[in-house]
Amino acid sequence: MPFEKREIFLIVGILFLMIGMIPFMAPIYAVTIAIVIYFGVRVLVGRRKKQIQKSIGEGACAVCGQKIVNKKCPNCDKAEDPHAWQ
Ligand SMILES: [Zn+2]
Repeated sequence: MPFEKREIFLIVGILFLMIGMIPFMAPIYAVTIAIVIYFGVRVLVGRRKKQIQKSIGEGACAVCGQKIVNKKCPNCDKAEDPHAWQ
């Protein structure tokens, strides 16, 4: 299925925005702005998905959900340090 639910909401939202803009400007400008916003949002969403995939690739801490940096959790490894000495 190439169309996600979120994408349908995005299209519907932009359509309403476009209809809302038409009284204030020529329809061709409203359509152009709507298309620019649509592709702008898609690019942003695509970048965010890539970032999320990247962070998932590095892994997240099972305890606190923090992003793993250098195979260590910046939150829990600090907290667990004193216990390592016991
Ligand atoms: Zn953690």
